[in-house]
Order: sequence, then C-alpha cells, then structure tokens
Amino acid sequence: MLVDAHIHIPACLAHSFSLSPQTIYLSSSSSIEEFRAHDSVRENPHVFFSAGIHPWSLEQLQCEQIELWAKTGAIQAIGECGIDLYTPELAVNVSRQRELFANQLAIAKAYQLPLVIHERKGFDEILQFSSELSQLPGVIFHSWNKSPEHIVALQRKNINAFFSIGSSSLRNAKKTLRNIAAIPLDHLLTETDAPFQPPAGEKLNHPGTLSSIVGALSVIKKSSRSLIEDKIRQNITNLLIKD
Ligand SMILES: [Zn+2]
Repeated sequence: MLVDAHIHIPACLAHSFSLSPQTIYLSSSSSIEEFRAHDSVRENPHVFFSAGIHPWSLEQLQCEQIELWAKTGAIQAIGECGIDLYTPELAVNVSRQRELFANQLAIAKAYQLPLVIHERKGFDEILQFSSELSQLPGVIFHSWNKSPEHIVALQRKNINAFFSIGSSSLRNAKKTLRNIAAIPLDHLLTETDAPFQPPAGEKLNHPGTLSSIVGALSVIKKSSRSLIEDKIRQNITNLLIKD
C-alpha cells in the first residue's frame, strides 16, 4: 500500500488520471467548489480529505466553513495552510497570512486534527506558533525540502512533525541525501501534490509517480521498499484514523 499524503484529486480527475486501489490519499481542497468536486471519491475508504486556506488565495475559503467540515467529520485534516513569503506579492500579505494560519491552527487544535503545512521562506514564522503546533496530533510539512537542522528545531519544540517527500524534494541530489537521511522513519511521508509540481521534464505530476519516490527513499534510507511502505502507511494511518 502506497501513501499520497498530499494530492488534489479533482484536478487529477480533470486530467483523466486514475487513482490506484493500492494507495491511501489525503486530498486537499482550498475552496468549497474543490471540496464538492470530490463527490465521486467520497465513499472510497482509501481517500481522506483536508481543507484549508492556501496562502496564495487567502479569501477563497472561510474559517467558519472549515470548522463546519471539521465538526461534521467531513475532513480528517486541516490544510494546506501556512506561510508563503517567497515573492514580494505574497510577503506583503504576511499579517493576514499569520492571522488565518492562527485561526486554522485553533480549529485543528479544537478538533484534534493534523495540520498540512505549505511553507516557503516562512519557517521562522511557523516556528513562532510552536506552542500551539505542539498540541496537535501531527503536523505534516508538505513537499519538505529543508535541512536536518530544521527537523531538530521542530523536535526541540515537541512538535509531532511529519516530513512529506515529493518529487520536488528529490531535485537537489546532495541536499536531498542529507535531508532525507535525517528524517526518522516514523515521521516520513510521501506525496505527489499531483497534478502540480511535475517531475523534471514533465508538464504535470501524476499519482503514478509515487512509486519512484518510494524507490528513491528506499535507496537513501538503505531500507527495503516494503519496510519504507509499511512505515509510511502506519504513519498516515496513525494520523488520520482515530480509534
Ligand atoms: Zn498542494
């Protein structure tokens, strides 16, 4: 069983990409329309749902709606949400980003749901919320490509952080080796972010690229494919399925 801890299923279906019955998915919505476009997979026992206000589209979804979904069990995680200061256009909204991130964090805490974080040049901002983040069942850093030092910083704050590796996390070979070697196996996840973040030379990402990510992890971690797969499946199951 593979795990795609961050995907946008409606956009994949729009490109006629099919889902595998051998994969657990956590599919993210940033709008009501996107959430509703999941109807065809709503009953699929391997598909889980998250919804959040993306830092790129701060007014597209309201916290009240996210809270309603959390309360009714329609979502099993909050996000993707976070801080993105990568461009001047995004950085200018930092205070609104911070405010909405805090609000979503509060919902995740109230309903004890994991948070899916999108972060670019915003790690220090995120770390300022450490005390609240440490009270969540888990925090998934989607498309993780930072350093072992960042992992330690999160561990020191007692944040139950999970590091989700997609094809973009594997681009810089030297950095990747060091980064992935430092991720504890019980805090490792895989993702495609499909149809976004295509692998080098391709136009779109595809749910099928997951297998090559697991292959790369197995080489770097010097562990068998089946061990890596089992660990990652356990990690996502612990996060998303409540007893
Ligand atoms: Zn995404």
